[in-house]
Amino acid sequence: MSEKYKLGAKPQPRACDHPDCSEAGVHRAPRSHEALRDYYWFCLTHVREYNANWNFCKGMAPDAMDRLAREDACWGRPTWPMGSKGAAHKAQPDFDDPFDVFDEIRRNRQSGAEKETKSAVDHPTLEALEILGLQEPLTMEALKVRYKALAKELHPDLNGQDQEAENRLKVINHAYTVLKKNLMQNTVDEAI
Ligand SMILES: [Zn+2]
Repeated sequence: MSEKYKLGAKPQPRACDHPDCSEAGVHRAPRSHEALRDYYWFCLTHVREYNANWNFCKGMAPDAMDRLAREDACWGRPTWPMGSKGAAHKAQPDFDDPFDVFDEIRRNRQSGAEKETKSAVDHPTLEALEILGLQEPLTMEALKVRYKALAKELHPDLNGQDQEAENRLKVINHAYTVLKKNLMQNTVDEAI
């Protein structure tokens, strides 16, 4: 080993912290949720594997059974046995995550969760209520009164060739049908 190398003019990257890997460990990942500033160092392959596992363990499921399963699977992370390898690299200089691997995976995960929440709000009955300007709890009488008033207001006899009024009437007719069907269904259920 040359004198120049010993002086550390150009610091060498540590090895990947995965026990069976000899790649350079240039991507850092927090050791635990409690020690976010304490890092493992991995190659690209292993930082991805580690981060995928991290995200799974971080997700808080509302269902108790699911949470228990998570805790079971995530106990004693990481999933591979960590040898004494990590301790040898303590004095190494700090490296950043040049490809933003950790952030990228987290971002993808978040955008997926947002899409799921949005689709849950999309419901034909709620949409119909909004179109007619009505609210739950809805009675058949209130629905008919509201529908008659709107249908009269938008009637072709009063609006001539107004295409917009005609289109609006179509939408209102559809919303009325949806809500009427819904109310009749509920009445049948109660009768049984
Ligand atoms: Zn590796």
